Amino acid sequence: MSEFVTIETEPNAPAKQRQKSGNNPAVFIQTYGCQMNVSDSRTIEALLGEAGYSFADSPDIADIVLINTCMIRETAEVRALGQLANLSALKKQSPHKIIGIIGCVAQAKRTEILKSHPYVDLIIGPDAYRKLPLLLEERFISPPGTPGLLETTLVREELYDDILPRHRGGVSAFVTIIRGCDKFCTFCVVPRTRGRERSRPLVSILREVEQLLAQGVKDVMLLGQNVDSYRSEDHDFADCMTAVANLPGIERVRYMTSHPTEISDKLLQAMGEHERIMPYLHLPFQAGNNRILELMNRHYTRERYLEIIASARKLVPDIALSTDVITGFPTETDAEFQDTFDLMEQVRFDTAFMFKYSERPLTRASKMKDDVPEAVKIARLERLIDLQQRISKESNEAQINRETTILIEGTSPKDKKQWSGRTPDFRPVVLPRSSEKLGDVVPVRLQSLTGFTFHAERLSQ
Ligand code: SF4
Repeated sequence: MSEFVTIETEPNAPAKQRQKSGNNPAVFIQTYGCQMNVSDSRTIEALLGEAGYSFADSPDIADIVLINTCMIRETAEVRALGQLANLSALKKQSPHKIIGIIGCVAQAKRTEILKSHPYVDLIIGPDAYRKLPLLLEERFISPPGTPGLLETTLVREELYDDILPRHRGGVSAFVTIIRGCDKFCTFCVVPRTRGRERSRPLVSILREVEQLLAQGVKDVMLLGQNVDSYRSEDHDFADCMTAVANLPGIERVRYMTSHPTEISDKLLQAMGEHERIMPYLHLPFQAGNNRILELMNRHYTRERYLEIIASARKLVPDIALSTDVITGFPTETDAEFQDTFDLMEQVRFDTAFMFKYSERPLTRASKMKDDVPEAVKIARLERLIDLQQRISKESNEAQINRETTILIEGTSPKDKKQWSGRTPDFRPVVLPRSSEKLGDVVPVRLQSLTGFTFHAERLSQ
């Protein structure tokens, strides 16, 4: 991923909406981690829907509960395993309920999980989801108490590109274009759990986006651990993104996430020139010191990163920038951390996702001595957070009175009389409801801010 923005869990439906559709066994999937996991859950829903399963909005009423896990951060793993532990009571009450653990933790810790959570019925990793219908069938005919199933025959080239993920409605959707990662950053477990990079054929991406457009989608986020590594036949990521942006009916195309070694001027030019490609770049830098970047195996220097940022600002007018940063990587000194702090102060990202280093199993960094004391990691992290909060506030305040557009994404959860939407550079906005409908792009002036949300007034078209 370079690293992903973390979605801790997908929200569950409110109690009054809880229901399961149809009489077929119902599946509930709880998703932890990044957008890739959310997208994988939609693929699994499509696979299971095709196999005749229905869907439930809560584990209580589901016949099958799948926990889609993430390992990138210790907190995401702990939360997913905590949820799994909570399900033991449910399993005691309803021994026929099938409990499955899937995703990166399932891939990396399969045997340990079966030992520590013996009530788990099946465990499979991200490249074996096609086996789910078969494994579930086997579980349905096994008496309760039968030891859980591990899926070990991994298809490392899996792309799921013939499966159209289930779209849950709404005007935005994720589309996975590349899976796996070849970068092997020393702190990251993803190449071990999701395998090597492989890109979907462009034709299958376009087919999926066309289907989404036919269902009312207007805003597509192209996903991958490193989307900018995309290669299929003669097409690179700039070609792929431009082809998607040229599809009739699409309003906005975005992507997540990028690696600095793969960003090209061709890509930035496409972003700057195509009005449907949004001016938003999430470009993790992780550390601002060259020795630490080398230890992380990131393959760029602080100087190269700053050059890319300068090109992005030159080629993409009004670009918004976000990033990921880690504090307290093994051996990081105060002076080296200061380089990270200075880079953040120099670039002035609009948003940043900041973490303290935590050791992840199966990584090269886990063999290094985790020698930065926890209190130092936290103090460094707090300094970065304070800095970024000030910069984000200033960046937002500078937008007041700006004329822009928003894509209407839904009704504001806090006020039914307001629409919620986002600007092209991904800032959340509310707007008094009028005759617009979901998916419309409305010209607005940003008037004021509450927290990080703008209040806007409509401009005449
Ligand atoms: S190895 Fe590096 S580039 Fe690959 S997913 Fe992990 S952090 Fe991102």
